[in-house]
Amino acid sequence: MICLGIESTAHTFGIGIVSDWSEVLTNVKSTYVPPKGWGIDPSKAKQHHEDVAELLIEKALREAHIKKPDLISVAIGPGLPPCLLVGLKKAKELSKKWDVPLVGINHAIAHLEIGKLFSNFKDPVMLYVSGGNTQVIAFENGKYRVFGETEDMGIGNLFDSFGRLVNLEFPAGPKIEELAKKGKKYIELPYSIKGMDVSFAGVYTHLKSLIKKHKLEDVCFSLQETCFAMLVEVSERAMAHTQKKELILTGGVSANKRLQEMCSIMCEERGASFSAPPIELAGDNGAMIAWNGILAKKEATKNYDKIDINPKWRADDVKVSWI
Ligand code: AMP
Ligand code: MG
Repeated sequence: MICLGIESTAHTFGIGIVSDWSEVLTNVKSTYVPPKGWGIDPSKAKQHHEDVAELLIEKALREAHIKKPDLISVAIGPGLPPCLLVGLKKAKELSKKWDVPLVGINHAIAHLEIGKLFSNFKDPVMLYVSGGNTQVIAFENGKYRVFGETEDMGIGNLFDSFGRLVNLEFPAGPKIEELAKKGKKYIELPYSIKGMDVSFAGVYTHLKSLIKKHKLEDVCFSLQETCFAMLVEVSERAMAHTQKKELILTGGVSANKRLQEMCSIMCEERGASFSAPPIELAGDNGAMIAWNGILAKKEATKNYDKIDINPKWRADDVKVSWI
């Protein structure tokens, strides 16, 4: 069985084609980049997705050497409604045209499942760090549960918002990582953990007062050290609580080498295994939606009225029929 997966929850429109023997046949995407100084405007991202969809679908079919898949999957949430609607509309069109069933997928769980496939981990804790999301998720008692999450902004949004303050190009994460390498002085920032949840809003407010007084390199260094320590602490707490021995780091921010290093040290100290999938699979992509489609194939249907977008769909509300 071959599944074509569509990702369009936020800034990225991606098409992945994956087989039920776990082979990623293709994984193509295009990402909307806002003009300098701006964040993501959902209507502009939607326009971008509409503009690239046809070409990417054709490209994916060509690269995978198939005429049509046996199944279509589409991310229906969580995400930005205008963007989600582009993906769902395309998915329904293709499903009708090819007469193959369709299944709606949760974007966060798709990150987790492709991480499991890549790492060969069986029962991991996942630290999911992206622009809009920051969550610690693991499987317990029949479903995926969110053990910890941000109470306000996603870690990526924090980096990008800070980047706008100091005139870094979007996305700011990679530039902050480079600058942080040259930082020497640690400046204290609010370290805010409540239970297994984290909060970044206080860090952002505090950063505003620092930028005029300190070197940018030192601020970036302190920003990374503080926020990453918070993320590693809550991940470790979730691992201890669930007694799980595997950690997957995923989402766009997982590209950060310092965060990878801190997670890896924590896991090593606990005798646990650690994996950070390559960025093609860790960032938003179609292959993860396709792979989750294969897993959730039992729920696929041609009854299109049953499938709608679910912009606030939480990982803990997903019916996990494949575990
Ligand atoms: P996503 O929403 O999963 O596509 O991830 C995008 C987010 O990842 C943006 O907020 C980027 O600033 C952030 N990001 C990308 N690369 C890095 C990096 N090397 N370090 C920190 N953040 C990063
Ligand atoms: Mg994502």
